[in-house]
This record gives sequence, C-alpha cells and structure tokens, in this order.
Amino acid sequence: AKEQGRNNFQFYTAELQQQASKSIELENRLRHALQRKEFFLHYQPQVDTNSGQIIGLEALLRWQPDGQALISPEEFIPVAEEAGLIVPIGEWVLREACSQLHRWHRSGLLSPTVKMAVNLSVRQLEHTSLLSTLTQILQETGLKPSQLELEITETAVMKDPDLVVNILHSIHAMGIQLSLDDFGTGYSSLRYLKLLPLHVLKIDRSFINDIGGKQRDQAILESIIYLSRNLDLTVVAEGVETQEQLDFLSRFNCHSIQGYYISKPKSAANIEKLLHKNKDG
Ligand code: C2E
Ligand code: CA
Ligand code: CA
Ligand code: CA
Repeated sequence: AKEQGRNNFQFYTAELQQQASKSIELENRLRHALQRKEFFLHYQPQVDTNSGQIIGLEALLRWQPDGQALISPEEFIPVAEEAGLIVPIGEWVLREACSQLHRWHRSGLLSPTVKMAVNLSVRQLEHTSLLSTLTQILQETGLKPSQLELEITETAVMKDPDLVVNILHSIHAMGIQLSLDDFGTGYSSLRYLKLLPLHVLKIDRSFINDIGGKQRDQAILESIIYLSRNLDLTVVAEGVETQEQLDFLSRFNCHSIQGYYISKPKSAANIEKLLHKNKDG
C-alpha cells in the first residue's frame, strides 16, 4: 500500500508538472497573440422574450493561433488573468466591440437602443487605468455610455469587495450599465444585489437547465425572476436551448433570453446576415 501511495504521488506530480508546463506554453503564445492579430470576437444576441427583438449583443472572445484550431476562452482566459495579460487583451475587446456596435448603429442595421455587453475580468476592475480607458474608448468609438454594458461575476466582486464596489459606482456614474453574470453560482448573491449599482442580472445556465425538472429547482428560478422584477432589474436568462425553456421563461415574465435556441455566438459577418434576413422578413 505504501508503495502504491508513492506511485500515486509521483503520478500526480507528473500530472501537475504537465499542466504547469502546458499553461506556461499557453502563456507564451498568448503574449504574442494581440500583436499577431489572432483574436476576434463573436457576438450572441440577447432578445426580448415577448417580442423576439434583439435588445443587446454579448461580445465573446475567440482565439485562433496561426494555422491552429480555436482555443476555448474557458482554457485561455484563466491563463491570461494569471499572467496579467487580460488587461491589454480586455482593452482590445472593449475597443473592438464598441466600434463594431457603433458601426451597426450608424448603418441603421441596429436600433440605437441595442446595447453591447462586454465581459470584464477582476484584473481589469483592479487596474488603476480602467476608468480613463473606458472614457477614451467611448470617445474614440462614438458609442454612448448607456449603450455599453459591462458583465461582471460575483466571484470577481468577492475577490476584493471594497475596491470593486467603489469602482463599480464610478462606472455607474459614467452612465455605463452593469450586469451581474452567472447569478446564483456565488456565495452571497443576495448581498451583492444590495451593494452593487446593477441594471441587469443574468441567471446562470444551471438554473435554466432545471426547467422541466424538480419542482423545487424550478421554484428557485421563479423566485429569482420575481426578485429581479421587484428590484427593477432587467433579467436575462442564459443558455436557453429549448422551446420548453422559452415557454417557461415567458410564462414567468422573464424579460430577456440568450442561448443557442435563439442563436449561437456568431462572427460579425454572420450577425449582419442574420440582421438582413430579419429586416427582409
Ligand atoms: P459567460 O460570460 O458566462 O458566457 C456565456 C458562455 O455560454 C459562452 O461561452 C457562450 O458561448 C455559452 N453559451 C451561450 N448560449 C449557450 C447555450 O444555449 N448553451 C450552452 N451550453 N452554452 C451557451 P464561451 O464563448 O466559450 O465563453 C466562456 C466564458 O469565457 C464566458 O462565460 C466568460 O466567462 C469568458 N469570456 C469570454 N469572452 C471573454 C472576454 O472578452 N473577457 C473575459 N474576461 N472573459 C470572457
Ligand atoms: Ca458573460
Ligand atoms: Ca454567464
Ligand atoms: Ca460562465
């Protein structure tokens, strides 16, 4: 047994070492990715549950190293955060997403009420230049602050609540909208609803998965929708994949939905095709 324990230990060490060198390799490739223009954005529509109209788009980062397959953000974002690379990468995302939306507004392809939602990492929130970067990007791209929505997660807030709450109040004062992402997956969700100047609450996909399942699980989802309405928050259900889920959310007056059932995240060119198709009926 002792011998086996030792072997297991060696196995784990080898595994850990492999993981560590994999992320060092990723980190090295990430360092050059911006310069090599290996990033691009996909956009996923958020629609009004009743009318089916697009009310916003979420920008989702994609990375395709030269001549290789796409690497999932679930894999490279944590590495970029750890290495501090998420700050310049996140700035690129903001600039790209804001200028894209402004072009769609100007061409009349989208109504000016349609917003762009951009994910923000805690490393960006902690960075001293965030507010001036945001001001600069809005000025450069011509987007109004109210047309930009920043998505933050509870886990991001939890890392340094005092600092983050302060920054979020400054962002709110600029007129930029704030959205709490993956709602319900953190530890003190309800507390943050009281503390943060939020416009939007995004119900985590795991709750949407509960639809059609146990009564108790569904009751939690209903309560989140009800609570958001009473707090005057716009509620977005994430990860809607079926008609059954859509019907349930519509029955319980969930304001808006996002998910594969409506549209997968698409390239800018494919979003344009979708918008032209909608326009032409
Ligand atoms: P997230 O912010 O929760 O984004 C939603 C994720 O769910 C996206 O995965 C999206 O493609 C996926 N999704 C949307 N609808 C459905 C559905 O109906 N079913 C299922 N199964 N999945 C759906 P993606 O694009 O792989 O992004 C993963 C995560 O990476 C994001 O989760 C976010 O945390 C992070 N991320 C993506 N882009 C950025 C970025 O620009 N900055 C930062 N800091 N994080 C980002
Ligand atoms: Ca998000
Ligand atoms: Ca989410
Ligand atoms: Ca997530």
